Amino acid sequence: MIPAAFQYERAFSVEEALTALASDPDAKLLSGGHSLLPMMKLRLARPTKLIDITRIPELCTITIESDRISIGAAVRYHQVAGDRRLADVMPLLGEAVRVIADPQVRHRGTIGGSAAHADPASDLAAVFLASEAEFRVLGPRGERRIPADGWYVAPLVTTLEPDEMLMGIDFPRPLSSRQTYLKFPHPASGYALAGVAALLSLDAEGRVRKASVAVTGAASMPFRAEAAADRLLGQTLTKDVVREASELGSGEGEYTGDVQYSALYRQNLARVMIQRALERLVQA
Ligand SMILES: Cc1cc2nc3c(=O)[nH]c(=O)nc-3n(C[C@H](O)[C@H](O)[C@H](O)COP(=O)(O)OP(=O)(O)OC[C@H]3O[C@@H](n4cnc5c(N)ncnc54)[C@H](O)[C@@H]3O)c2cc1C
Repeated sequence: MIPAAFQYERAFSVEEALTALASDPDAKLLSGGHSLLPMMKLRLARPTKLIDITRIPELCTITIESDRISIGAAVRYHQVAGDRRLADVMPLLGEAVRVIADPQVRHRGTIGGSAAHADPASDLAAVFLASEAEFRVLGPRGERRIPADGWYVAPLVTTLEPDEMLMGIDFPRPLSSRQTYLKFPHPASGYALAGVAALLSLDAEGRVRKASVAVTGAASMPFRAEAAADRLLGQTLTKDVVREASELGSGEGEYTGDVQYSALYRQNLARVMIQRALERLVQA
């Protein structure tokens, strides 16, 4: 459990980080280190150099504007959990980060590290997808903005190029007023066996005007449950509508079984968790 030898460098500006990254194809950015360091200890990653980006001011801010919320890539989970402004405008995010791992991981782990690592059971993946987040990326070829829908390519793979840095994540405003994140943790690892982020807006008659649902953990990749959202649109939230939406939504993932949980079990768990998340929003 000892990593291969590596160099360590702390970057104090975006330019310094990108220059260091460009100068060594085997270098890697270091944020909270809670995914990268375990991979290095297991020799699943062998970067020659780690570039610490956690002291770059632009990456460490939370900005709330009338049309968007911007969170820097190096903002830590505990900062999100403790930000009162975020609790007002995007309570979903706080709900999700509070159920990630333990206080130690939440103290060091970052929003950008979670996005860049792209674990298919990452709690935040469901939040990013359901809230239609956009990823701001900077590299030698300039800036790119990537919608959450186009970010996750495969387990642990994103559209990020090796010489690019994730700068931050933007969430459009206004977000639907009813929001929740609900997680069924794996009993051993605590990662999501199924995690559901759901956002709903209702009109004055109580009909669904906007709906968005996303699932993490259950399938081989986090996914937006579009069919669930479509079933909810224009409807009042009766038990039957919620049940049907949950069934349709859970049908959209690609499930594979493993030695502990069959594909069928995972799909059924996704259905149950979508239903519970929506029921929570009905009562909100
Ligand atoms: C015991 C334990 C339990 C955990 N439980 C959970 C859980 O329940 N739910 C959950 O969602 N997660 C869980 N995690 C993972 C945790 O959330 C990690 O913190 C997260 O996956 C990675 O964030 P980090 O800041 O630690 O990134 P790091 O480990 O520093 O980096 C991860 C990867 O992202 C790259 N990277 C980091 N920042 C950037 C950037 N700005 N631009 C480009 N690339 C970047 C790195 O080079 C590396 O490849 C757990 C981790 C541990 C150790």
